[in-house]
Amino acid sequence: MLVKEFQNNLAYARQMDEKDELKKYRSQFHLPVQKSGEPFVYLCGNSLGLQPKATEAMLQQELLDWKNLGVEGHFEAKNPWMPYHGFLTRAMAKVVGAKPIEVVVMNTLTVNLHLMMVSFYRPESKRKKILIEADAFPSDKYAVESQIKFHGLSSKECLIELKAREGETCLREEDILDAIDTQGEDIALVLLGNTNYYTGQYFNMKKITEHGHAKGCKVGFDCAHGAGNVPLNLHDSGCDFAVWCNYKYLNSGPGSTGGAFVHERHANNKDLPRFTGWWGHIKETRFKMRDAFEPSPGVEAWQLSNPPILAMAAVWSSLKIFEEIGMEKLRKKAISLTGYLEYLVNTLGNNAIHIVTSSDPNQRGSQLSIQVKNTDRKIFDQITENGVIADWREPDVIRVAPVPMYNSYEDVFKFYTILKTALQAN
Ligand SMILES: *Cc1c(COP(=O)(O)O)cnc(C)c1O
Repeated sequence: MLVKEFQNNLAYARQMDEKDELKKYRSQFHLPVQKSGEPFVYLCGNSLGLQPKATEAMLQQELLDWKNLGVEGHFEAKNPWMPYHGFLTRAMAKVVGAKPIEVVVMNTLTVNLHLMMVSFYRPESKRKKILIEADAFPSDKYAVESQIKFHGLSSKECLIELKAREGETCLREEDILDAIDTQGEDIALVLLGNTNYYTGQYFNMKKITEHGHAKGCKVGFDCAHGAGNVPLNLHDSGCDFAVWCNYKYLNSGPGSTGGAFVHERHANNKDLPRFTGWWGHIKETRFKMRDAFEPSPGVEAWQLSNPPILAMAAVWSSLKIFEEIGMEKLRKKAISLTGYLEYLVNTLGNNAIHIVTSSDPNQRGSQLSIQVKNTDRKIFDQITENGVIADWREPDVIRVAPVPMYNSYEDVFKFYTILKTALQAN
């Protein structure tokens, strides 16, 4: 959408909402409410997505079947628990652009990251290093460091943390590719966030994967901030694995089950080292309980335990909405809605404000990270008091994510007026 089409007034925002083909979905979510009874302007779906109204009934169904059927629910429940994880696969595969055999909902993000590194971080001789971003999410960094240590190696020797250039906040894609091209022979694993949690920057996974593979590295992505936000096309990207959580853009509730992708090319490789559990065993003989482990085809082989059905029900409930709308329409609205936010923030003409996130829609999702210079948390507390739920990152960044599934242009406009007032008061 061209910036010149946007207008800086409430009537325009409302008019955009009126024309929005996804407007009916807002009413399918619970919006947190302020003391005054007014809903908050919720721009924090990148941290915790809102609850779909349908989720309660999905959970009630499983509670009811457990109540009435006990263990028989594994086969007799309305949605039998034995094959339950499989009910989520097709829709999840569509969200992340993968084939069903490449996708599973299981465990949580950091657990999945460890499981994937067990299989795909195999340091040997000269090739021992892991390439990550210097501002990777702390959990990812801890996981990576502990894996390096687990192999008897040291982070000092084996961890490459790629920094943005002096005076810049976002990593340049060319610098990532250059690091891979020049140091690739020492790198066992390239592990990047596909959308950076801090800057909102969204990387070209296909290009990075091609460069990594050309040098013989394995390539994995943390899609915590990408899944349900940007088109991922995981299969076409060619990356070896990806992991994500489902409680951010995927609206599946706090700490809910995560997701994992392993490329089809590894689907039938029984020799891949991995940590295993009974749920990864082929389902035909899983309950014989005696056979040696025989991996399921595809990423299901990495499952450990029988899944938490109550958490899975919440994931399924949300996926039904994603399946109904499709990522294409969500992405289209996201580009426009985030563009509107950017336009409004820029009209403030305030030198203290700097949008850290790229101004290129192809390099960002729904999130803008707005740096407010020469200030402290006070400004954030003030916008919170005035009815906005967003996210503050020390020392001076407000992360704001208008989510196309339930946020409106009016939300974005309200945020802008509240931010403007707060800036004037500071
Ligand atoms: C949200 C997030 C996590 C959180 O990990 P959990 O295991 O789900 O607690 C990890 N990494 C990134 C990049 C994230 O954005």
